[in-house]
Amino acid sequence: AAPARDRLRIAIQKNGRLAEPARALLSACGLSWRESRDKLFCYGESLPVDLLLVRDDDIPGLIADGVCDLGIVGRNELDEQGAARVQAGLAPAFHALRGLGFGQCRLMLAVPDEWEWQGPAQLSGTRIATSYPAILKDWLAARAIDAQVVELSGSVEIAPRLGTADLICDLVSSGATLRANQLKPVETLLDSEAVLAGAVRSPDDARGALMAMLLRRLDGVVQVQD
Ligand code: ATP
Ligand code: ZN
Repeated sequence: AAPARDRLRIAIQKNGRLAEPARALLSACGLSWRESRDKLFCYGESLPVDLLLVRDDDIPGLIADGVCDLGIVGRNELDEQGAARVQAGLAPAFHALRGLGFGQCRLMLAVPDEWEWQGPAQLSGTRIATSYPAILKDWLAARAIDAQVVELSGSVEIAPRLGTADLICDLVSSGATLRANQLKPVETLLDSEAVLAGAVRSPDDARGALMAMLLRRLDGVVQVQD
């Protein structure tokens, strides 16, 4: 078990698409920090709420391990690691507490332009490249489709041209990357946005009260933004 803490700790992305909007949202909730932009840790000044600046991939695990109480992460990443835990026989450890209204994107299947799309049944026997193997496996299993999942950590969209896969399952926002690679989106597996994630078991001490207050402030701020 993680050592007792009396300060709340929130993990956010250090660099990348969610980094600035996450900070802006927490600032709008009245939080401020002793600035240390280039470092890993930001010490909370207005409230005992500290930030940990990390890679987005690390956020679900930090919550599962009790290193952080909350995190701001894409639903895509949270669901992927949640599905991977279930597939590995582990108990659920984290979940989304709130949708935050930024970082919108879709996890989609995309096929080469020249394919005539007739529906998921067409996928049996194909190879699908993705960085989201657990979500994709669940989606395929739910439809009894026997396809091969090729796990890639990046540059998924070039896999069909390289011949390492027939199609891909990847995040799409504008669709420009797909078009540039002669691919077209055909099925949506997940509608994603940034979420506030927390442990399935939230702390029942001072941190729990702090968390409840932060959620109330967040609900006010996110509502005003909508
Ligand atoms: P890190 O270095 O933290 O691992 P990353 O490269 O994995 O960064 P980003 O590209 O910054 O992550 O994306 C972070 C999140 O932004 C994604 O997980 C997703 O939820 C969201 N997002 C929104 N639009 C897109 C998009 N077009 N492509 C990828 N992610 C997107
Ligand atoms: Zn990442």
